Amino acid sequence: MLSRMFPRPANVDKKAGQKRPPTDSELLKHSCLNRMLPPPTPTRETTNKDTWDVDPAPKQVCLHLGMFEIDKPLGKGKFGRVYLVKHRVSGFVCALKVLNKAEIIRENAEKHVRREIEVHSNLRHPGILAFYGWFHDTRRIFLLLEYAPGGELFRVLRRVGRFSERRAATCAVQVAQALNCLHSKNVMHRDIKPENILFGLHGELKVADFGYSVHAPSNRRDTLCGTLDYLPPEMLSTKAKYTKAVDQWTLGVLTYEFLVGEAPFEDTPFMTRKRIIKGDMTPLPDSVSTEAKDFVHSV
Ligand code: ATP
Ligand code: MG
Repeated sequence: MLSRMFPRPANVDKKAGQKRPPTDSELLKHSCLNRMLPPPTPTRETTNKDTWDVDPAPKQVCLHLGMFEIDKPLGKGKFGRVYLVKHRVSGFVCALKVLNKAEIIRENAEKHVRREIEVHSNLRHPGILAFYGWFHDTRRIFLLLEYAPGGELFRVLRRVGRFSERRAATCAVQVAQALNCLHSKNVMHRDIKPENILFGLHGELKVADFGYSVHAPSNRRDTLCGTLDYLPPEMLSTKAKYTKAVDQWTLGVLTYEFLVGEAPFEDTPFMTRKRIIKGDMTPLPDSVSTEAKDFVHSV
């Protein structure tokens, strides 16, 4: 589908009716697209050595703000806003997350932003919001992301109150599949919550916001981060090391929230912390099936 939105450079000589290698300006025009697209799949025509003698992907990709038409804001983040944008040349619609450098420095968050880019740009999965590229100017850093037209899971859940068991199960499976992909690459997300999960065009879930994520091949971390309601006991107890199982705990908390409409330890910050450490979860209502209860208690 993407390849239809991003047609290859028009390297067909119309008069002669023959293919010719793309010119430099044609390649430059499509330079940012090469980052967004998977490498071209060789077809019978493209395997012809003459046609692709020139490397179709330029080494240096030079994305800049002028390439995009800015549309409505989609949301607000810690260091700036996220906008709906359109790539002027191709008409490709995506989301642009704008991060303010001064704010990042003020918050001492350079490491987090670098990690967000490094981790997110290496992930490809239908359940993970696609990362297309990034660029920066003197004041801002721009992340070019897949547009999730369905918006935040958080808003949808608040609007409908709670999900049916079937819908809760579908959502839980999709988050579990995305987590499986992350964990197979030794990545911990560490901030799974309904605000950071978005709905794609067909109602499918997309895990987003890799601001707290970390690539940890040793599978042991000790930094306290994330959002209190979704943190596991091992993260809250002092000095304990934790593993990627922290994301699994969050899957249980999320599924509870899908079924009930609010998180299981919701309280004042002090009490929430205490209750998480004690495992003192508000019991699931009787209307929830035994199977669903088992799932929430076991993840
Ligand atoms: P925070 O730390 O507060 O979660 P953040 O700086 O990490 O913020 P994001 O969570 O990535 O920012 O984005 C902020 C909000 O913008 C999201 O909660 C969502 O509502 C919206 N948003 C982000 N990316 C997209 C996207 N690709 N498509 C649609 N909406 C998006
Ligand atoms: Mg977020």
